[in-house]
Amino acid sequence: MKIIVAGAGAMGSRFGLALLKAGYNVFFVDEWEEHVEALQKHGLKVNSEKGIETYPVYASTPEKSKGPCDLFIILTKAMQTKQMMEKCQYLIDEKTSVLTIQNGLGNLEVIKQYVPEQNLFAGVTTYASRLIGPGKIEAFGLGETELMQVNNKKTKNVTEIINLFNHAGIQTAQSENVIESIWKKAAFNSILNPLCTLMQNTVSSVGSYSNIEILLEELMNEIIFVARAEKVSIVKSELNKMIQDAFDPNMSGNHFSSMYQDVNKGRKTEIEHLNGAIVHIAEKHHISVPNHKLIYHLISMLEETAGESFPEKTNK
Ligand code: NAD
Repeated sequence: MKIIVAGAGAMGSRFGLALLKAGYNVFFVDEWEEHVEALQKHGLKVNSEKGIETYPVYASTPEKSKGPCDLFIILTKAMQTKQMMEKCQYLIDEKTSVLTIQNGLGNLEVIKQYVPEQNLFAGVTTYASRLIGPGKIEAFGLGETELMQVNNKKTKNVTEIINLFNHAGIQTAQSENVIESIWKKAAFNSILNPLCTLMQNTVSSVGSYSNIEILLEELMNEIIFVARAEKVSIVKSELNKMIQDAFDPNMSGNHFSSMYQDVNKGRKTEIEHLNGAIVHIAEKHHISVPNHKLIYHLISMLEETAGESFPEKTNK
């Protein structure tokens, strides 16, 4: 089986490496030339519980890759999806299964322009990883992944992908309703990522604010209302539990969100596909979401203006 991981950043490298170590034919495709060169020359360096290890990998830019492949996993940031799909169309044929495990809203709508629905799979994951620099990632802890064919049909292919992931040690189950899961994860990220970024602090610090419940209630209600207008159900108690669990310092509580790291590095964040998407979908349905609108503008303003003045902080 030939697998292409398009967007071999933090998560793409982590999942791609797990599949490679399980014996699959994995090719890393990335647009960042310095990263591709480092992977080609020095292999992928991984800092994990096992210490620092290096693995030789096949890596290339989208233009220099070879297709078609059996499984195409897209793991760019949401704002890079369109460009990656455009450049990689030639690596996909009518038999290729395409899987996105990206965060944010809007990825599926873009990918559907290039892939027939029966070949399209989506998932969410609680695994984490960090791209430290070209060719280097940090991948600690475990997580859970759920995925499903986007039309919710239980096919042989979805079982095959789930088995493949589990065989590679990526703990994976079939999603009951992957669209709801994507929305729930987007809701979670739209609340915690910007708050951590704006507060310049960890997830658990945000959770320790004395009036956090009042703020969470407002933010959750707005998203749940917008999701309902799109015929997606988010169960508030489940979303709230997901958030409360993340406040635990033993879970992800001691982490700075990836949005924080992106602003700090002067990179674009996924804000357009989180609070931005919520605002735009709300406008379409004539729903008012003042809290998410404010957050959307504050993060967009930081993206444009913060630059090097934004302090660098590493996970505690
Ligand atoms: P990432 O930022 O590590 O990598 C994405 C792409 O950004 C890379 O393919 C690379 O081309 C480019 N890039 C990264 N750093 C760069 C730099 N300094 N200069 C130039 N280009 C650079 O993204 P990720 O964290 O792997 O996220 C991929 C998707 O997975 C996103 O939708 C994210 O929300 C989701 N996700 C991430 C994690 C995580 O822990 N990282 C966990 C769950 C879901």
